[in-house]
Amino acid sequence: MRSRGRARVPAGQLELTLLRPGAAGLFDPDGSRPAHAPLLDAAGFEPDAQATITRLIAAPSGLVLVAGPSCSGRSTTAYAMLATLDPAQRRIGTLEARVLRPVDAWAQVHVRRPRAAARSGPWTRRLRAWSTAGPDVIYLGELDTPAVLELSLQSVEAGRLMLARVRHDRACGVLALLRALHGDRVRCADALALIVAQRLLPRLCPDCSQDDSRQDVRRLLAQAASTWLAQQPLRPRRACPGGCVHCRGAGYDGAILAYEMLEVDSRARSLIGSSSKGVDLERALLSDGRTLWAHGLQSLANGATSLEALQSSIREPR
Ligand SMILES: [Zn+2]
Repeated sequence: MRSRGRARVPAGQLELTLLRPGAAGLFDPDGSRPAHAPLLDAAGFEPDAQATITRLIAAPSGLVLVAGPSCSGRSTTAYAMLATLDPAQRRIGTLEARVLRPVDAWAQVHVRRPRAAARSGPWTRRLRAWSTAGPDVIYLGELDTPAVLELSLQSVEAGRLMLARVRHDRACGVLALLRALHGDRVRCADALALIVAQRLLPRLCPDCSQDDSRQDVRRLLAQAASTWLAQQPLRPRRACPGGCVHCRGAGYDGAILAYEMLEVDSRARSLIGSSSKGVDLERALLSDGRTLWAHGLQSLANGATSLEALQSSIREPR
């Protein structure tokens, strides 16, 4: 059943068909993206990260996880990832406790957030229904129970692309989370394609922020200035007490994305499949300048965010 271009999904069953290419009103003028979804660059990803995400999402199958705490922009990232796909070529379905943005070309199913006592029930039922006759690409609002992880792995093994949010602060830490959900190490390693961990950092107001030459800032930047931050101009800034009219006295205006990306290629798959610890995996897989903290430090160096905002959002590595 479809109404005005959107596949409507009755409870307990699914009826999905490919949309006609170029269906009226579904695409931006360039015809390449569904309307109403954010784009990766608008979500805050740099060009090389956009290219990696687009390449991995285009694969026919795999498990892609977006990690972070509440209000870290995970939904925006997930939607932007899905928006790189052409719904005329691949059927896209979402299972969400709250549909944040209706997108005409996707089948979006609202599933009431399960209570803690019966968390796996509604998600599991819908996902099980989709695992046999569902979309080619499935976005799960939250992957947080053993049953949902097992169904997700089965879906990937059956040739689907699974995209899901997980609640964890770091990319390599997600691997421990999967093990805590009884995920077999080798199966998870085989299924995984990409883990993105992210935060939203308060953005300094461009109208009133001030130069920052405090010792703590200089110390932090000095650690990286001789390595991955070399050759980049250092112009750290801080919030102006009392702000200005533009930022309504806050000193900050908007947010910027900080992220780390773990692409699970053959080398990473081998390390994950072995018994490596999270800290060892991070050392091996996220090189200098590629961690969440390093990304935040870059925003401190270029004056986009402040020391206070960085330290309140991302834990400094020891
Ligand atoms: Zn201001």
